Amino acid sequence: SPATAEKYEVVIVGAGPAGLMLELLLARYGLSDDSLLCIDAKPTALKSGQADGLQPRTLEILKSLGLADEILCEGCQMWQVAFWNPSEDQNKVIERTSIVQDVAVPARFPHEVTIHQGRIERILEMDLLRYSKRGVQRNTKLVGVEIDEDGDAEFPIRAEIETEGQRRIVRSKYLVGADGAHSAVRRSMGLKLEGESSDHIWGVVDLVVDTDFPDIRRRCAIHSPAGSVMVIPRERIATGDYLTRLYVQVPGDVIPERDQQSETSTGPPPVADARARRSQVTEKTIFDNAAAAFKPYYIRPKKDGAVDWWAAYQIGQRVTDNFSVKDSKSVNRVFIVGDACHTHSPKAGQGMNVSMMDSYNLAWKLAYSVHGLTPANASGQPDAILDTYNTERHTIAKQLIEFDKAFSSMFSGKMGPSGDGAGGLTHDEFLEVFSRGNGFTSGCGVEYPENLTVDRNLSEDQNPIHGTDYLSGILRPGRRLLNVRLVRHADGYRRDLQDDFPSTGRFRILCLASSDLLDSQGVSARALTALGTSILRFPKTLVEQVVIHPRLPKDFTWTDLPLEVKEHSEMSFYSGYEIDDVYGIYGINPTEGALAIVRPDGYIGVISALSEVNRAQGYLEKLVRTV
Ligand code: FAD
Repeated sequence: SPATAEKYEVVIVGAGPAGLMLELLLARYGLSDDSLLCIDAKPTALKSGQADGLQPRTLEILKSLGLADEILCEGCQMWQVAFWNPSEDQNKVIERTSIVQDVAVPARFPHEVTIHQGRIERILEMDLLRYSKRGVQRNTKLVGVEIDEDGDAEFPIRAEIETEGQRRIVRSKYLVGADGAHSAVRRSMGLKLEGESSDHIWGVVDLVVDTDFPDIRRRCAIHSPAGSVMVIPRERIATGDYLTRLYVQVPGDVIPERDQQSETSTGPPPVADARARRSQVTEKTIFDNAAAAFKPYYIRPKKDGAVDWWAAYQIGQRVTDNFSVKDSKSVNRVFIVGDACHTHSPKAGQGMNVSMMDSYNLAWKLAYSVHGLTPANASGQPDAILDTYNTERHTIAKQLIEFDKAFSSMFSGKMGPSGDGAGGLTHDEFLEVFSRGNGFTSGCGVEYPENLTVDRNLSEDQNPIHGTDYLSGILRPGRRLLNVRLVRHADGYRRDLQDDFPSTGRFRILCLASSDLLDSQGVSARALTALGTSILRFPKTLVEQVVIHPRLPKDFTWTDLPLEVKEHSEMSFYSGYEIDDVYGIYGINPTEGALAIVRPDGYIGVISALSEVNRAQGYLEKLVRTV
């Protein structure tokens, strides 16, 4: 009965990468085992297979959580991509057309890392145990969930869960479905994954290979006359061998879609045929097709037992219309994250990343709501901030689906000799889609639209930012703060700026002082004085300040600074010119300076001129309760 039901602030269903990221963050943000429950139907983290790639932006975030070291040291750092295409020389069959950088945009870690999904889950789960005694409640399945305000208005979510045959009811204020592509939460809430499947069938296999192919330790896109293969070099395993992942196109899939449409009026074969073909794929089919595509090189498992995992899949892209469900008072109560809201082909390595990033986006907003740290809306609920989860992540999911459609159909297309387009696709076309998608596939080009937490409402004459190359670091609300290297004034520490923005749930005011910093009546001193007073209005644990200064006289000492800088920022006061040209990278004129408020997840919320401290303060007042 409701009187005896277990009650939590937040229940999370599913402990894949998305669910674990959310549970860990909420536990770090102070939700104890009494307020937070995460269940998973499986007895352990994933043992083999599924996702294996981490984007540069995900690496930045794992670093901001103190979780990147093992991944960077023991994962496979993927720096280059080689493109192999049909050769005009019959003896060669295929030849390397080019090698490019895998990540072509500025990033703190300008490469991807491949490492098994289960290992990421284990890293998240082990860290979780520092904050939670229970960790994930495993072998526990969600049977169904409903919003039942009449049963208990304070804990309106009623979920039925089952552990080893025993059913029980848990109630909560919020519930998050991180339960994967077949999400029971999504179904219970009547949300639908909309989209389509293509007729392209691929096999994927993780193994230790024996091969004479020269680029086996680079990421490769191979378009051979016998079909396409993507090679993903992987981490070293306990035997001392290195794993390789192969994505292999399987039979019946080598006819390019364009040709089919032009040669027959009936178009591509029905998708049902593709499903039948998928069910016929075996480990042997995958190897036979891989062997054909690699010719004249050989490729085979190194020995018996060298295959770690394999699967066959049909390419499709689907997204749910809404990532949250509200109660009768329009309060967001149930959310879905990860594969529960979007599914797509795995080759661009997006699945685990986008899923964890959904949770990363939701976690701080949920924590602010649960702890009452954000102002209440008209109905008395601290809810407005939660609306922005759907606004932001649905936008990204739609972009992901569009990119994936373009990328996967190009990848399944056929290329003629020397990529000249005779077979339907040119090397340049493919490279163009690959490179254009780099902002997206790296995670670094993500840009959230205008909303309560992203304020771009800045007139041209008030805008202190010069330039528009946002991927290269020009500051822009909605984009992540690019890492720069600078020198801390107090101790000469040559530091990465992102290390002053750890994911601890705080907003940060980034003040790029102007060159008149030492003038007590100058614009910087006045701004810093006003900010000093302003910060005091917010809880100390939620807003802090980082100051960067342009070139100052050689005889400058710390005591020359306005009182406000000294009081708040000695250990986050940096020279912005000694390593990187920070002002240049961020698009700021050092004589003018600028303010930027960075959200707890590292995305810029608002920008203002130094003389417009009120603008920055107004932004914070909408999101953070004053004391
Ligand atoms: P999941 O990892 O699916 O986690 C969902 C969790 O919810 C699971 O632990 C599950 O046990 C639990 N769960 C489900 N239902 C319930 C319930 N009713 N009650 C309690 N718990 C429940 N991505 C790539 O990038 N490359 C690949 O090659 C690739 N291959 C894949 C192959 C397969 C067969 C699958 C299924 C996925 C693959 N993916 C791949 C996708 C990638 O694994 C996902 O994008 C990623 O795991 C999404 O994370 P998630 O946490 O949202 O969901």
